[in-house]
Amino acid sequence: MTWTTATSVIPVRLIDASLSAGVRLDVTWPAIWAGGVVTSLLFFGSIVAHEAAHTVVAVRTGIPVRSIRLFIFGGLAEMGREPDRPGQEFLITVVGPLTSAALGGLFLALGDQLDAASIPAVTARWLGEMNLALAVFNMLPGFPLDGGRILRSIVWAVTGDVVRGTRVASFVGSALGAALMAFGLIQFLLLGGAVQSLWTGVIGWFLWSAARGGYRDAILRQQLHRYRVRDLVRPETGAVPGDGSVQEFIERGLYHDRFGLRPVLDSAGKLIGMLEGDDVRDVPLEERLYTVLRDIARPVDLMAVVAPDDQLSVVIDKAYETDRRLFFVVEEGRVLGTVDTVDVVNTLRARKR
Ligand SMILES: [Zn+2]
Repeated sequence: MTWTTATSVIPVRLIDASLSAGVRLDVTWPAIWAGGVVTSLLFFGSIVAHEAAHTVVAVRTGIPVRSIRLFIFGGLAEMGREPDRPGQEFLITVVGPLTSAALGGLFLALGDQLDAASIPAVTARWLGEMNLALAVFNMLPGFPLDGGRILRSIVWAVTGDVVRGTRVASFVGSALGAALMAFGLIQFLLLGGAVQSLWTGVIGWFLWSAARGGYRDAILRQQLHRYRVRDLVRPETGAVPGDGSVQEFIERGLYHDRFGLRPVLDSAGKLIGMLEGDDVRDVPLEERLYTVLRDIARPVDLMAVVAPDDQLSVVIDKAYETDRRLFFVVEEGRVLGTVDTVDVVNTLRARKR
């Protein structure tokens, strides 16, 4: 998306600049388009730098970052979890706009050093303005923009209540989005700039829906954050002894109940592997009496295991990734029980009322 904006804007801006400067740009169209492509890359790089700043501080303060997504007017670093303290959120957030502002200043200074009517000068100025615009736009105080996160961290710090902070910042975000949409409409009706007003409307709509969606998501994440796996652990483990025979396993009908996967324990009760119903059925009939479960167990699947101190968001994340419903709660090699994704969902539902 950033690509198309920059490549289509640059040539127009170049002509604009040459006209307003009263000079004729002595360049060819291929040169203009080449300049457009280079500028697009630099603009793309600027957004990546903004997101990288968030990411570096997040990782340094102990928050894993899963991915970085890029949008029309910025990016989004997807954090593994929400910050624990308002100061942490403030720091992670503020470095993004600061990076854009610094890049903006650098590009503008660079543009001043170059021959005003040259392609490098025009593109440097454009990049400078775009980076500054990026910094300003992202500092608008509506969640989920950076400014909204900063507002949230301030309300959070003052009231000690992260939910209230999220509520305030999301409200401002929705209001900003609605105001932009209204402004787009007025722009269209009074000034008739169809493309410009549509653009304003689209950004407004994006902000409005992101504020609403971001609010729901943030509240959900905070609730997930509040509980630990230990709060929801059920005592049944489905564990089987490693020295039990395959024959016995089958006779007890253990391969077709709700445990698709079972922990296998050694004689001291420690987890040594896991077993699926199919692993047992694959053992030839004549060998079932003499084959012990330990010998056919597969290695412990870490995606099926959670720790008692894990946040519930870990369960949800693993459930999304594996399509699994039951997870084994394991501490120091011992299976304490299971946690059921349905219990997690019900807990959140109960809290909402
Ligand atoms: Zn940002």
